[in-house]
Amino acid sequence: MITINADRMRALVADIFSAAGCSRAEAERIGHYLVIANLTGHDSHGVQRVPRYLEWLRSGTVNADREVKVLKETPVLALVDAQRGFGQTVAPQAVDIGIRKAKAMGLSAVALRNAGHIGRVGDWGERAAEAGLVSVHFVNAAGSALVAPYGGVERRFSTAPYCVGVPRAGAAPLILDFATSIVAEGKVQNASFGGKPLPADALVDRDGSISADPHVLYGQYAPTALRDYTKGSGAIRAFGDHKGSGLAFMCEVLGGSLTGTGATEPGQVFANGMLSFYIDPQVIDPEGYFPADAAAFIARVKATRPIDPKADVLVPGEPEERLRREREANGLPLPENTWGAIAEAAIAVGLSKARVQEVTG
Ligand code: NAD
Repeated sequence: MITINADRMRALVADIFSAAGCSRAEAERIGHYLVIANLTGHDSHGVQRVPRYLEWLRSGTVNADREVKVLKETPVLALVDAQRGFGQTVAPQAVDIGIRKAKAMGLSAVALRNAGHIGRVGDWGERAAEAGLVSVHFVNAAGSALVAPYGGVERRFSTAPYCVGVPRAGAAPLILDFATSIVAEGKVQNASFGGKPLPADALVDRDGSISADPHVLYGQYAPTALRDYTKGSGAIRAFGDHKGSGLAFMCEVLGGSLTGTGATEPGQVFANGMLSFYIDPQVIDPEGYFPADAAAFIARVKATRPIDPKADVLVPGEPEERLRREREANGLPLPENTWGAIAEAAIAVGLSKARVQEVTG
């Protein structure tokens, strides 16, 4: 493992995407959001994605500097096409449309179709919470069939994340944000690069055997090579038996089918679809009951006697907030292979060896 300062990594990622053809503003956004994923402990959605994003840019799976196109609009609703723009650019644009409408109407829904990878969905819950709004997001990742439904061994769902964001006065928002698979695909990637091992029941092979071995998903691979999930014979398992599998199913139907991105099926080009709902607590809660009641509830939950006397009971978003503070101060831990792959990618787009070495120096 090596440790890299967050600011230096942000700047390197921005330089890489700038050199690869993105505007400086977009390149900086990509750096900003990928590094937040590392800061919050979601390394699977952090800078390890750089080589794959570059590959997608080269192949036209994702396009530089796109604006979302509003296809349909009412005072409370919008359908927007991301035109395969970078998720880090088009997702905040879509969220801002939802915020504007919810501020005007108390409630809004935005269907985002054909987005490049939107990364950590919690970023979008946080963006809405910063504007004082509650939000709910159903997401699918079309073109990325990786997850077996409850009772099955074949890939049918994407890792289809679900997110709820709730603002709090004077405190970080509550952010529930997870893949509906036992692990996100990036966590399998991370484990395959020597990062945190997978839970023992994370994967299922074609013969129905349960496994934690990344080769089940990727087949054989060289240490710094791009992982290719089309090469493996198995699948990631949906979390929470029939309940988690049911939530994944609904993320596909709402985030995929209803947005027009398409529910996951073989042969699609990768795109995220996201159906988001926004509620303004100022409108639904005219007596101002909600903040104090939620705060009292949070306190009761946190006061639960812990199983492990040395560990706290946490609320959604709390582990990320804690880690963010720690990693801002102490740097981002990265497996050597992940750093190697980023360094190779940086040099391949024209950055000098000296520029890359500055980051670890
Ligand atoms: P995870 O399993 O780490 O779960 C994270 C959630 O659980 C957070 O809300 C966190 O606050 C909460 N949590 C964690 N530990 C807790 C504890 N001890 N007590 C209370 N709450 C706790 O997340 P994941 O499933 O690995 O997903 C990782 C990221 O991947 C997410 O940000 C998700 O949006 C993203 N993702 C994106 C895509 C995409 O296509 N864009 C696909 C899949 C996942």
